[in-house]
Amino acid sequence: MIEDNIFVLLGAPGAGKGTQAEKLAREFHLNLLGTGDLLREKAREETQVGSQVGQIIERGELVPDQLVADVVRERMGSSGGAGGFLLDGFPRNLAQADLLEQMAGNTPIGVINFRVDEEVLVKRLSGRRFCMECGKICNVYFSPPGKEDVCDACGAKLIHRPDDRPEVVRKRLQVYREETEPLVAFYSNKEGFFGVNGNLDPQAVFEEISGKLLRLKEHTGNPPLSVDR
Ligand SMILES: [Zn+2]
Repeated sequence: MIEDNIFVLLGAPGAGKGTQAEKLAREFHLNLLGTGDLLREKAREETQVGSQVGQIIERGELVPDQLVADVVRERMGSSGGAGGFLLDGFPRNLAQADLLEQMAGNTPIGVINFRVDEEVLVKRLSGRRFCMECGKICNVYFSPPGKEDVCDACGAKLIHRPDDRPEVVRKRLQVYREETEPLVAFYSNKEGFFGVNGNLDPQAVFEEISGKLLRLKEHTGNPPLSVDR
């Protein structure tokens, strides 16, 4: 049984979940569990489950829902004592949401839904340029490099990754709508669900989430989160 607070981040690729997740975890002392990282970590373990996960990832297939849930639960069980958990990338469909409910038992689940306009998502994702030399990422719409296709930091050539091509981006967004967006309906009439305007700049989004998280904490009645302010 998990007795700590559980918070779930919902939002399309490009919604800014990753950026906010790191900030929120630091500020609210939450254990950040990013499913992608957890699964990659698991794959490196020399166990039966580890090699199973590794093979699935290598083949580029989706890790089965139950297996993802097992990995998340295992990590939750082994990292107690914090102010709670912040989940990024889990649940990603209704079956996983059911598994999370079972895991959580009576622990309330807070859900933060990032609402972002499709055109903003497309610009954020398809505008990204990546430096192969130093890893710096910029965006031709929001943070253009001084010189086209050249990294500001190191002067190397910037590349447009295949995953960030507009047609691939639209496809990724479509997968999100079909698979993960039903979760918004699933959670939206439950207590502890709230939406944020993810079109805003990261600092504004962070302030909106922080304010709502604090109110949510009062609402759930769990011990207050410790907050550095
Ligand atoms: Zn560079």
